[in-house]
Amino acid sequence: MPRPIHATISVDALAHNLDVVRNHLHQAALAATAAQGQPLAPPSIWAVIKANAYGHGIEPAVRGFRQAQGLAMLDLNEAVRCREAGWGGPILLLEGFFEPADVEVLDRYHLTTAVHHADQLAILAEGRRSRRLDIFMKLNSGMNRLGFAPDAYRAAYRSALRMRDDGVLNSVGKMTHFANADGPEGIAAQMAVFDRVTEGLPGPVSVSNSAATLRYPAVSLARDDHGAWVRPGICLYGGTPFADAGADSFGLRPAMTLASRLIGVQELRAGDAVGYGGLFRAEGPLRVGVVACGYADGYPRHAGTGTPVTVAGVRTRLLGRVSMDMLAVDLTPAPAAGIGAPVVLWGEGGPAVDEVAQAAGTIGYELLCALAPRVPLQVVP
Ligand SMILES: *Cc1c(COP(=O)(O)O)cnc(C)c1O
Repeated sequence: MPRPIHATISVDALAHNLDVVRNHLHQAALAATAAQGQPLAPPSIWAVIKANAYGHGIEPAVRGFRQAQGLAMLDLNEAVRCREAGWGGPILLLEGFFEPADVEVLDRYHLTTAVHHADQLAILAEGRRSRRLDIFMKLNSGMNRLGFAPDAYRAAYRSALRMRDDGVLNSVGKMTHFANADGPEGIAAQMAVFDRVTEGLPGPVSVSNSAATLRYPAVSLARDDHGAWVRPGICLYGGTPFADAGADSFGLRPAMTLASRLIGVQELRAGDAVGYGGLFRAEGPLRVGVVACGYADGYPRHAGTGTPVTVAGVRTRLLGRVSMDMLAVDLTPAPAAGIGAPVVLWGEGGPAVDEVAQAAGTIGYELLCALAPRVPLQVVP
């Protein structure tokens, strides 16, 4: 029998979360149309499936996000896997392409690419292709990660438009990325830069990640004169981008459940210690369960005593230091749980991945993406 740990991926939860986002945008469009007296439409959705769909697997994500208008990622191989899984819709490469040879892949698999520096534009201007490419020109509106500087953007955009008129490109869009959509600073400063720099430039707009899609849906609405796309990632997996609002508060469901079983039980007396370093010491008699899950499975080693975990349907706490292959839990609230008892580390029927992340000083994104390849995925409809 294999080790009892596994991650269940719910295709239904992925589809449900996409619906939640779609409804949220739809409501925002209705409200804004009524308030502004001009027709505003919900944007199209690029479902972001980078990093192996945040650890959920490309193929289940393609199935779960069938109703999305597009898929977005970074890795060309993942893009090819989407095509092989039968995805015929648009695919956006968020970091663009990396060398001239990649353009052939864009052409062959009909991929839309971000263009964030002048060299990429120059590469696109060369060579022969079977079809005209779709691009989004990326503006660095203040995050200082990828994108053309504000004072270089308009000239670059105009050369892209000339390439469109010359038959090299099919469509040219505008895009940027927010650094603080989840926090108190918000998006106003970057949006002001984006609006000023892109003013009057034609083409569809794409600015919002999960946090901006949920918190500021109005900036992503489509108008008569331009289309719009949002790029949600984490919320589609049932994680939250916010430190102060859980995913459940938006009606999102966890798409990944990391589960295992107890493979050992120890009866401690007062003063007995648990695990490497003996970081936890029992104050009195204590039943401790040993779970087949450790940091080599992707469980965070920085999660300490008190991190929530569910054993036999009862919420309890982690004890001591997480080992490579095991961790210990307090069985006081689950006195009947013995070897073989089911354990949920995060997901459906257990703590939210964001709670575990917070206890470990990180974010749910990192835990989902860092699920180790040795953990088998069980995909359920
Ligand atoms: C990762 C990423 C997203 C999605 O971010 P979430 O916070 O997961 O919604 C959107 N756009 C770009 C450019 C990204 O890199």
